[in-house]
Amino acid sequence: MHIHEYQAKTLFNQFDIQTPKGVLISTVEQSSEACSELGGSVWVVKAQVHAGGRGKGGGVILCRSMAEVESASEKLLGLQLVTPQTDAKGLPVSQLLIEAGQNIERELYLGLLIDRQTQKITVLASVEGGMDIEKVASETPDKIIKFGVDPLGSLSVQDCTLVAEKLGLNADLTQQFNTTLLGLYEIFTQKDVSLIEINPLIVTTENQLLALDGKIDFDDNALYRHEDIAKLRDISQEDKKEQLASEHQLNYISLNGTIGCMVNGAGLAMATMDLIEHFGGSPANFLDVGGGTTANRVAKAFELIQTEANVKGILVNIFGGIVRCDLIAQGILQAIETVGLTLPIVVRLEGTNAPEGLNLLDKSEFNIHVESDLTKAAIKIVTLTKETSE
Ligand code: ADP
Ligand code: MG
Repeated sequence: MHIHEYQAKTLFNQFDIQTPKGVLISTVEQSSEACSELGGSVWVVKAQVHAGGRGKGGGVILCRSMAEVESASEKLLGLQLVTPQTDAKGLPVSQLLIEAGQNIERELYLGLLIDRQTQKITVLASVEGGMDIEKVASETPDKIIKFGVDPLGSLSVQDCTLVAEKLGLNADLTQQFNTTLLGLYEIFTQKDVSLIEINPLIVTTENQLLALDGKIDFDDNALYRHEDIAKLRDISQEDKKEQLASEHQLNYISLNGTIGCMVNGAGLAMATMDLIEHFGGSPANFLDVGGGTTANRVAKAFELIQTEANVKGILVNIFGGIVRCDLIAQGILQAIETVGLTLPIVVRLEGTNAPEGLNLLDKSEFNIHVESDLTKAAIKIVTLTKETSE
């Protein structure tokens, strides 16, 4: 799960990580009050969306008067903000963080993630932070400092000092840096984080170290034990289809092809998509309905697939290990009726009670083609969808 920058910064502050003063607003009218509250004469208006690259997408606006803050707020609120990290539709902006403008001397990068290769929580840092960090990482990877934390130990002040040294920080800044990095590590481990990032971590002309941006991704599987974090979810920022899917424990990812896929098990779903490609078709989605599939879940899955505008046919591929194929067949029939599906459907069932299941589907009045062989099923759906598009 992602959270907004302002939420990340609130969490940062709870762990002694310093950030610029900021006020969250959701209407243009609140903008001048926010400026007065912050004081100073330079403010930065920042669109709150679940994507980075806002600076490049026009979502971070530097303002030198209250009038400018007001017009920037007017421009951003209600906008679908497109950044290099969103799709072409962008993400809705309904909240803005108005921040005190900072005098930046240096922009650093600091983050923590799990390095799956070394199986360690790994500190990433760079003296070249800011909006082009991806370029730094791909073109000059030696400019990225990496430090793997001993999984049996913890991050120590000495470890932090070592990183600070490599970043060329003086004694005063090193102390601030150590607090910041230890805070990040605490958040990471206490809150089941998968990625935490400050980019940029700035050194101000006043010799202060501040988190100017904040990005935190949480492990969804651990959210059940963090009620405080789960509350921060903003569903307006999530893909509607993937949201509906997660509500029904379906693993769903939209793709660009024409053949909708409904499969139980991620591995089987991959194999199914490969076969479709192999025979000249292209999948419209990845969908794993899971092991203990129910009729209701099958119906939701059909509903989801049908929302893809480019779908011309559906391939259902279920292996009945735990579930019985005849129950799945009943679920499919019920679902087709409920959803009102008219697209051609090829169903491949294998496993427990497969013949009974296939028989049920074969007898039905719907546009269903049954197969017990996956290769034949894949060829069939590719042929059928080619026919409908001609
Ligand atoms: P994103 O990473 O989505 O582009 P950031 O919060 O990192 O958004 O902001 C982009 C850039 O805007 C920063 O690298 C920094 O140069 C500038 N910026 C952001 N907040 C402030 C601020 N409070 N004061 C001065 N400059 C800022
Ligand atoms: Mg940033």
